[in-house]
Amino acid sequence: MPLAMARDPRSRSSLADAVRNVERAARIGGGGSRLSRILRPSFPALVVLIIAAGTALVAFAYTTRDVQARPVQNEDHWHSPYALWDCAEGTEGDFLPQFTSTDDGLGIHSHDDAIIHIHPYFEAASGENAQLEDFMTAMRAEISDDAITLDDGRVLAEDVTCGGEPAIIQVHRWEFASSVDEAPEVFTENLAELRFLNNGEAWIIARAPEGAELPPPPSIAWLGQIDPFALRAGEESTPLVTEPQDE
Ligand SMILES: [Zn+2]
Ligand SMILES: [Zn+2]
Repeated sequence: MPLAMARDPRSRSSLADAVRNVERAARIGGGGSRLSRILRPSFPALVVLIIAAGTALVAFAYTTRDVQARPVQNEDHWHSPYALWDCAEGTEGDFLPQFTSTDDGLGIHSHDDAIIHIHPYFEAASGENAQLEDFMTAMRAEISDDAITLDDGRVLAEDVTCGGEPAIIQVHRWEFASSVDEAPEVFTENLAELRFLNNGEAWIIARAPEGAELPPPPSIAWLGQIDPFALRAGEESTPLVTEPQDE
């Protein structure tokens, strides 16, 4: 082909040459469209690539699922009894009325039943983002490390003494409502960021002197009657106390 030999291979027409060569190869090979002639060599490679990518994706999904922090959005549905306690209420401290809000922006909410229902709809309230603050917001309340603002606007501040001791804002957490005879974990810092960690926790949100022993939430008594199907939905559902507590 004297014409091709005369050309500079780096010239602008080299692309046209390449196309012409492919066309020629297609004609010589016979059968099949030009397109399939071009694609045929890379098709098996493409299949291998797709299989490899699919396998990697499955492996990745499996790994992330394994370490995915709970509660998992649109999967877990947890129930945790809670109560508000104020040492300045009455003569020796008392529970305050439960929150009545049924706001449910993120899936961490209540049904006016003194139970925290935790079934996050969004990442913003699932896993490590499932925090006490989300619940308080749904209750139209607030908690900081030195004040609780109730849904009626009343503020419990660290400005009272109870039994001669200064009261502080604190949160008590029992891992399981079924074992409130054990000592709770007591938190006095970063209260808004406290995480919900499992189904059937029990919470007291309180103003009380440091080291105060507080009674567990009375709503433990009816936890067993709430949405039992949902309680079984989580694989780590907990045996729960159903008998009414004393008082
Ligand atoms: Zn629920
Ligand atoms: Zn609910």
